[in-house]
Amino acid sequence: ETAVTSNFIRNIIAEDLENGKREQVVTRFPPEPNGYLHIGHAKSFSLNFGLAEDFSGRCHLRFDDTNPIKEEDEYVDAIKADVRWLGFDWGEHLHFASDYFDQLYLWAVQLIKAGKAYVDSQTAEEMRENRGTLTQPGVNSPFRDRSVVENLELFEKMKAGEFPDGAHILRAKIDMSSPNMNLRDPAMYRILHAHHHRTGDKWCIYPMYDFAHGQGDSIEGVTYSICTLEFEDHRPLYDWFIEQLGIFAPQQIEFARLNLSYTVMSKRKLLQLVNEQYVSGWDDPRMPTLVGMRRRGYPPAAIRTFCERIGVGKGASWIDLSVLEDCVREQLNESAYRRLAVLKPLKVTLSNYPADKIEMLEAPNHPQQPELGKRKLPFSHELYIDRDDFMEEPPKKFFRLGPGREVRLRNAYIIKCEEVIKNSDGDVVELRCSADLDTLGQNPADGHKVKGIVHWVSAVQAQEVEVRLYDRLFNQENPDKAENYLQALNPDSFQTTTALVEPELIAVEPGSTFQFERVGYFTVDSKDSKSGQPVFNRTVTLRDTWAK
Ligand code: ATP
Ligand code: MG
Ligand code: MG
Repeated sequence: ETAVTSNFIRNIIAEDLENGKREQVVTRFPPEPNGYLHIGHAKSFSLNFGLAEDFSGRCHLRFDDTNPIKEEDEYVDAIKADVRWLGFDWGEHLHFASDYFDQLYLWAVQLIKAGKAYVDSQTAEEMRENRGTLTQPGVNSPFRDRSVVENLELFEKMKAGEFPDGAHILRAKIDMSSPNMNLRDPAMYRILHAHHHRTGDKWCIYPMYDFAHGQGDSIEGVTYSICTLEFEDHRPLYDWFIEQLGIFAPQQIEFARLNLSYTVMSKRKLLQLVNEQYVSGWDDPRMPTLVGMRRRGYPPAAIRTFCERIGVGKGASWIDLSVLEDCVREQLNESAYRRLAVLKPLKVTLSNYPADKIEMLEAPNHPQQPELGKRKLPFSHELYIDRDDFMEEPPKKFFRLGPGREVRLRNAYIIKCEEVIKNSDGDVVELRCSADLDTLGQNPADGHKVKGIVHWVSAVQAQEVEVRLYDRLFNQENPDKAENYLQALNPDSFQTTTALVEPELIAVEPGSTFQFERVGYFTVDSKDSKSGQPVFNRTVTLRDTWAK
């Protein structure tokens, strides 16, 4: 199913443009630089950049860096790289909320002068109590009626660093009995003696998200401020600040965030997985981060397809991980070169093939795309096939090898199992086979059919490589439902093994992906591979094998 799924925001915008409500489309993606981007963020920025592309507008990348304690330049760089990796471009429009600190301060002063903001000196505890509840109105702060002059003086002193953290806050004067808790005199500024990754020690008061976000949008001329549903209740506040300040009004539109099965996406949890070494880092191939997916070998086009396919709506959206994996398979099926690799080797000796002969067969890089060329594939009398492709007592429908049975070796000859060799424990250690040397690229002369095709490598030329078999990081559909999400970790999400591969798989570029025929898609690890010594990450299996 490749139909473009519904996107209600696209419809709103198309209508606005048609009836002249808006003239252009300006969106933004506003990550907080406190962690790496994950697939949920990809949904958000594909949407924002995608709409800008669709309507010939522009999309800004704006770092929402109002919380100095958790923010770092390392994350800024990683986020930029991730957005670029998916093919999006913010052009000139790289912005930081911290660029607006001076302007925001002036606007705060403007609201104080207009009697719309005041310095509150209650303790955090008192403020919490006086805020009321959903069923009970709040209580006005005893400091609510401070004079403009006093408020200005206190706010100035807050800025000058004369008070410790938490001594005062600046609040908007709205309505302590509003049914919307966000309108009960929300905080605008807090005192925080903290070093900021960009403004250094210039500030010891920092604006709250709600006082910074809409104004940032307004300054940049953002027409559509698209965010997730948690912010629906903040919209009246977003609009209130814009209206009080009398500045350009963007329109906030909320959509449902992406929830993906077998995955957690809270940055706090991802950070814990990293810090406590449940994974090897933010870029562990099992992580839902874009750096993890890149290392695992997910093509960016597959992630874009996924974001398009899941659509954009208002209802809570749970997407099964297999939807993403299918997008990856579809993409790789088109682009990945085919290679032969054996993960569980079983020796095969061909009795009628000369022991000193090495033949260089030719095999297509991609059977459906001859324009991708061919490679040489060495063939000799000693081979390895996969253990799973042999059964001593096979059932009828087992179209692989068994005593007296025939299979075709992929891109090579048909062989027949003549003898099964066992060790003293009774384990099968070798198969002696005969090859029909008239079957290269053609059917047996007598016309009989051979159904099975198995993959193989030539023993002498095959190379050993490390293969990392990744599976889902969690084995429960919704890890957040477990008492502790760590208990939902899949103990079998990572195994490492040695594979025997055809020689073409040795001089390979980090990051390149191959289909190991009949096995799965594998990507050359970009961190741990060395020249001539690739490490392969299993990107995805050939079909969904996850047992629920
Ligand atoms: P966390 O709450 O875990 O810190 P966040 O949502 O606050 O994550 P931000 O960096 O603030 O992280 O997110 C940037 C943008 O990405 C926001 O607009 C946010 O709504 C959006 N976003 C985050 N997670 C998802 C998700 N799962 N689906 C869709 N959009 C998301
Ligand atoms: Mg956050
Ligand atoms: Mg956020």
